[in-house]
Amino acid sequence: MMNLNKKQTTLLLVDDSPTDLAALCCALKDYHLLTATNVLDALNIAILQQPDLILLAINLPGMDGYEICRQLKKHISIQLIPVIFITHLTDEESETKGFSVGAVDFISKPIRPAIIQARVAVQLHFKTIHDQLALTAHTDALTGIPNRRHFEAVMQNEWSHALRYRKPLSLLIADVDYFKQFNDYYGHAAGDECLIAIANTLNSTLRRATDMVARIGGEEFVCLLPEVSKKNAVILGERILTNVRDLAIAHAGSSIANHVTISLGLAVLDVNHHSSWQALLSQADQALYRAKFEGRNRLIG
Ligand code: GH3
Ligand code: MG
Ligand code: MG
Repeated sequence: MMNLNKKQTTLLLVDDSPTDLAALCCALKDYHLLTATNVLDALNIAILQQPDLILLAINLPGMDGYEICRQLKKHISIQLIPVIFITHLTDEESETKGFSVGAVDFISKPIRPAIIQARVAVQLHFKTIHDQLALTAHTDALTGIPNRRHFEAVMQNEWSHALRYRKPLSLLIADVDYFKQFNDYYGHAAGDECLIAIANTLNSTLRRATDMVARIGGEEFVCLLPEVSKKNAVILGERILTNVRDLAIAHAGSSIANHVTISLGLAVLDVNHHSSWQALLSQADQALYRAKFEGRNRLIG
C-alpha cells in the first residue's frame, strides 16, 4: 500500500448499526470503502480484498469485535492490516482490551468526522512507512528481485507446506560462470548490468505465481519451485540455461564460451534425506559445485 490517492486506499468498515455505518461512510467518503455488518462477511472481505485499514465496532452480534480482531491477527495474509476500534464503550478496561488484542487505535462514538479522518490518516501514514520499509528489507537493491532474507522466509513456509501436504519441492541454485573475469574485463558497472539481465531472465523463464527467484549472493541466484517434480525442474533448468545463453552477453574472459553462461545445481525434497530446508539448499549447492567441476554451463542434480 503506497498510494497517495485516497480513492486507491481501501478501508473496511464493520458495524451492525446502519446509522453508525452510514455516518462512518460519510466521514470517510474520499476513500474506497468496503462494509460488513457481521463477522463472517468481515473476515471474508478482509481476506479477499486485503483492505489497507479496518474500522471495527465492538458490540457485534455473533462474535464481539475483540474476537474478530483476534481472528484477523491469526491469518497470515491479513494480520498486518491495522485495526481501529470504534465504539460506544469508553471505560479504561474496554480500551485496554482493544489494544491487547492487536488494535492500533480506539475511537469512541459518537462519530466525529474530523477526528475519524485525522486518526485514519495517521494510521495509513504509519502503514505506508511500514510497507516501504518491509519492501526495502526484502528486496535486492541492484536487481529488484527478492533478497536472501526474503528467500529464507518463503523457503521456510514452502518447506513446511511441502512436508505437511506431501508435495514436491525443487530448488535450483544458479551461479554465473567466470564472473570475476567478466568484471575484470568489462568493469563492475557492466557486471551489474549482466546480473540485472540474468535476474530478469530467470524471472521471465519461471512464470508460475508460486515460483520464486531471489538473489542470495553476489552472482548467485536461487529458484524456489513449489510443487515442481524433479523431471519438470530439469526442464525448467535447461530452459534457463538456454535463455541465459540466448542473452548473448559477450564474455571474452570466459574459458568455456564467448558469451555469459551460468551453472545450475538442483535439489529436490526427499523426506528421507532432508531434515531441514537448509539441508536441501546445501544439496543444491553441492550439485552446483559439481556443475562447475564438470565444466560449467550445465545443470547437475
Ligand atoms: P565460477 O565460474 O567458479 O563461479 O567463477 P567466478 O569468477 O564466477 O566466481 P568467484 O566467486 O571467484 O567470483 C565472483 C565474482 O562476482 C567476484 C565479485 O567481484 C563478483 N560480484 C559479486 N557481487 C557483485 C555485484 O554486485 N556486482 C558485480 N559487478 N560483481 C559482483
Ligand atoms: Mg559464486
Ligand atoms: Mg561464479
